[in-house]
Amino acid sequence: MSSDCLFCKIIKGDIPGTIVYRDEQVTAFRDINPAAPTHVLIVPNKHIESVNMLIVDDEPLIGHLFIAAKKIAAQEGIAEDGYRLVVNTNAHAGQTVFHIHLHLIGGAPLKLQMG
Ligand code: 5GP
Ligand code: ZN
Repeated sequence: MSSDCLFCKIIKGDIPGTIVYRDEQVTAFRDINPAAPTHVLIVPNKHIESVNMLIVDDEPLIGHLFIAAKKIAAQEGIAEDGYRLVVNTNAHAGQTVFHIHLHLIGGAPLKLQMG
């Protein structure tokens, strides 16, 4: 936990968030400024600033994040139609919150094709 981190505060319940999924390792809540009809942020309960700060011991946690994403996509009813998972890292990707998070975006055809 980091006392001045927005997402740590949402995880702890100090700041309100619309939580859609929670387990012992991750918390997921709706993005305050959604880019599509479904936009959920999936974050580890452990404070990690970015992909650059991952250590080898985090490997199972990051796997867990993707399994949570799959479950939430099904829960949100967007698994069949499809969705995008995004992780921004540092300035060139436009990362604004420095607690690693997986964006789960879907619910409509996504206009910007990447990759
Ligand atoms: P990033 O740009 O770092 O990849 O994504 C940060 C995301 O956090 C943005 O999509 C932004 O809309 C979202 N966000 C910023 N502040 C809050 C907040 O207070 N609550 C919630 N639920 N989302 C937030
Ligand atoms: Zn944090």
